[in-house]
Amino acid sequence: MGLSTGYFTHRDCWRHEMGAGHPECPMRLDAIEDRLRASGLADFLDHRDATPAALADMELAHGRMHLAALRGLSDILREDIAAGGPPHFLVDPDTSVNVHSWEAIQVAAGAAIDATDAVIAGELTNAFCAVRPPGHHAMRDKAMGFCFVNNVAVAAKYALERHGLSRVAIIDFDVHHGNGTEDIVAGDERILMCSIYQHPFYPPWEHSNAGNLCNVPVPAYTRGMDIREMVDMMWLPRLDAHKPQMLFISAGFDGHREDDMGQLGMVEADYVWITERLMEVARRHAKGRIVSCLEGGYELSSLGRSVEAHIRTLAGL
Ligand SMILES: [Zn+2]
Repeated sequence: MGLSTGYFTHRDCWRHEMGAGHPECPMRLDAIEDRLRASGLADFLDHRDATPAALADMELAHGRMHLAALRGLSDILREDIAAGGPPHFLVDPDTSVNVHSWEAIQVAAGAAIDATDAVIAGELTNAFCAVRPPGHHAMRDKAMGFCFVNNVAVAAKYALERHGLSRVAIIDFDVHHGNGTEDIVAGDERILMCSIYQHPFYPPWEHSNAGNLCNVPVPAYTRGMDIREMVDMMWLPRLDAHKPQMLFISAGFDGHREDDMGQLGMVEADYVWITERLMEVARRHAKGRIVSCLEGGYELSSLGRSVEAHIRTLAGL
């Protein structure tokens, strides 16, 4: 069969939360699923439950101590709570775990891996992973910016190491720079990382000048039309030269003009346009293979609409 778009998630992705009022909240996934159901698009997707990622696979992108610390925190937190302590443990000023976080981290990375397996096996043309916590700020050995394990970097390395691909691309259109992904992939010539992001902005980051990175910083208030032009001029020639055998998308929707987490002027039509261009690259070089993972996007209405537009495009509808 094949030739369909997969939708990967898991209920554990709802159980991780970082405290009342935190923008990276479980309601983000509700907003996406409400919109997919209300629009009827949900009926056209191949829904799959993600399985937890194996430690050995997460270690393709992360140090063992980093993963061991994240796993151990849940147990420590349970003891803290039993002793009357607070329900969250802060690992970075804006990033914390609760007792369910490790399970969510595992299925978020596992979704990206399962989607990679299914797309490479030809069961699906492409796939979207509706997961949280997001991943693109997670460095090899550090959790930050709402991220713990870098779902997209794990999946890209997995495609190279476990499926024997020799070239892949990671494309990141979140309003924030994917510093974690850059930390993990800089210098790995098998992976081309293309990103566009508001600059100067979060995170503070010393950019690498490794040759496999195509970083496109744009100032606050850049409009969607200008972002399209940058994608056309900067990303597409690099992608065609790299000839990736599979594309991984860090799909953040906080660059939407209604999302006040950032100050870019993207709208649904811009996400459709970028998705179409990436699908053309994938058809030219990668048999159409794309795995897209949710990163940011915090204004619930524009997040739901943008993800729907992105997935509708992936599904060719
Ligand atoms: Zn972001």
